[in-house]
Amino acid sequence: VIGGGSAGLSVAAVAAQMGAETVLIEKGKMGGDCLNYGCVPSKSLLAAAHAAVLSGVAPAFGVTFDPPRIDPAGVRRHVRDIIEGIAPHDSVERFEGLGVRIIQAHARFEDPDVVAAGGTRVRARWFVLATGSSPVVPAIPGLADVAFLTNETIFDADGLPGHLVILGGGPIGVEMAQAHRRLGSAVTLIEMATILEREDPELVGIVRSHLLADGVTLHEGTRAVRIDRGSEGVSLTAIGPDGAARTIEGSHLLVATGRKPVVQDLGLDRAGIDHGPNGIVVDRRLRTTNRRVFAIGDVAGGPMFTHVALYHAGIAIRNALLRWPAKADHRTVPRVTYTHPELAQVGWTEAEARQRDGNAVRVLRWPYRENDRARTERLTEGMIKAVVTSRGRILGAGIVGAAAGELIQTWILAIEQHLSIGAVAKSMVPYPTLGEISKRAAGSFYAPRLFGPRMRAIVRLLARIG
Ligand SMILES: Cc1cc2nc3c(=O)[nH]c(=O)nc-3n(C[C@H](O)[C@H](O)[C@H](O)COP(=O)(O)OP(=O)(O)OC[C@H]3O[C@@H](n4cnc5c(N)ncnc54)[C@H](O)[C@@H]3O)c2cc1C
Repeated sequence: VIGGGSAGLSVAAVAAQMGAETVLIEKGKMGGDCLNYGCVPSKSLLAAAHAAVLSGVAPAFGVTFDPPRIDPAGVRRHVRDIIEGIAPHDSVERFEGLGVRIIQAHARFEDPDVVAAGGTRVRARWFVLATGSSPVVPAIPGLADVAFLTNETIFDADGLPGHLVILGGGPIGVEMAQAHRRLGSAVTLIEMATILEREDPELVGIVRSHLLADGVTLHEGTRAVRIDRGSEGVSLTAIGPDGAARTIEGSHLLVATGRKPVVQDLGLDRAGIDHGPNGIVVDRRLRTTNRRVFAIGDVAGGPMFTHVALYHAGIAIRNALLRWPAKADHRTVPRVTYTHPELAQVGWTEAEARQRDGNAVRVLRWPYRENDRARTERLTEGMIKAVVTSRGRILGAGIVGAAAGELIQTWILAIEQHLSIGAVAKSMVPYPTLGEISKRAAGSFYAPRLFGPRMRAIVRLLARIG
């Protein structure tokens, strides 16, 4: 197994416990991006950021705190502490305990069935490439000459930036914008298109209004064309939607303009493994063009999420160790942006559904403000939007609001198990919970029929019969 991130570690742990002789090669930190530079530090930083605004929401409950004082060193300690708490699970010691041989070095194919790493040559029946992804650094004039941050450095930076300029309004850029703003940094986010472009614009609108209310300065439809050192630290020249150039100054620059699969310096050509700009070429069984080699996780060019990496690991294990022709299916990969409010999506958005199924699509909405639990918690901002066919087949669901990442799980299960909207409408959910939002949205599918003239006529007729 090459790469000890979410994908590689998962394969190695399962393979060793199933009795396969397993070698794991990792050149950097065990745990890869998710633990060290991705999901864990970003969600930990967001948790600190949300704690920082509690004093602002508490007065509505009749509770007041002193205004928050943010200790940047304390915030860093919190993030490190969370990483260190999870790290033993991904450690060399744990994996050696499971019977995995670990080589801490850079791995490279020498032959189609031989990998060399740290002076050792490993010949194996099966290889799993799980080398992950790295930040894309765009070719903007001047960028190479200024200091900038990426996800690999921002969580280790000393203190908190005075004014963070973020290039890129995808999930990483948007999460980092809210986290830093709520922790006291000034934040300016520049996005060529719109923030969270892939998501349902109606749901994104609610995230956008919260970012603005937090005090994030957003420049959408704005393209950075030149970057220089500035008086504060960095100075960007950008062209706005009106075609006019503007200058944006900040103390720090975070580049969050996307991720690219790590395919370089792996000896792929010597091993007969095809690859392109989207990563390693794989078939649905995640086999590369070298039949001994699987590619999984971010490097396989599909959706780049930890849950996808773990799912891929299961596919590779079944194919390699059990000779079971399991295939990857990315149609129901869920995604969550962990801002306040969270934004979660599974399956098609309304626009995707309309593009494919035309006007036969029905959209079911339910707002958080109609939910009693949301009211008791004062979390009334948000909504669910489910997209179904006229016969009640669920095509997708999006939720923006508190705990959206948890609430979406009903819809993931429903779509994966081909349940109809009726199954969600009929399930009994405890009162008062946010989960009732899903049930009420699903129930609204039946409202026109249930409360329409035909039903009224039937009820009146039955009453007359006695
Ligand atoms: C800021 C940020 C936040 C994120 N938040 C989320 C989130 O909330 N939820 C979510 O699902 N996903 C999130 N992701 C995505 C998630 O981190 C990745 O999808 C996941 O880490 C992919 O796992 P992987 O095993 O494919 O790759 P990685 O975790 O990148 O692991 C690859 C490993 O391979 C090693 N390696 C590379 N080349 C070699 C070589 N030649 N020899 C030896 N070792 C090598 C690397 O050192 C690395 O440790 C986030 C990503 C970022 C950047």
